[in-house]
Amino acid sequence: MSCGEPHETDCSEVLDHLYEFLDSEMPEVDRTKFEHHFEECSPCLEKYGLEQAVKKLVKRCCGHDDVPADLRAKVMGRIQLIRSGDPGGAGRDVMPPPGAPQET
Ligand SMILES: [Zn+2]
Repeated sequence: MSCGEPHETDCSEVLDHLYEFLDSEMPEVDRTKFEHHFEECSPCLEKYGLEQAVKKLVKRCCGHDDVPADLRAKVMGRIQLIRSGDPGGAGRDVMPPPGAPQET
């Protein structure tokens, strides 16, 4: 995945090490490179924002840092669905189950 723009740091490299960046498990010099990349590459920034949001959410709900792969996939899929402008998805985060009483 790439935005097609040339960057000093390759998009794939950034995405490969996204979790190390999030967990502050990388040298300062690399962090600076990543931050620079996020400034000029919105697809990577968006991906970073998503990962960060998921991580925070899981930490708050489960009390630990490890995001279970299935939960992560579920949340990411949901966010991507909303962002893709799926009718009924945008702005309507919670869909009532069929047959549920409608509040008007
Ligand atoms: Zn990028």
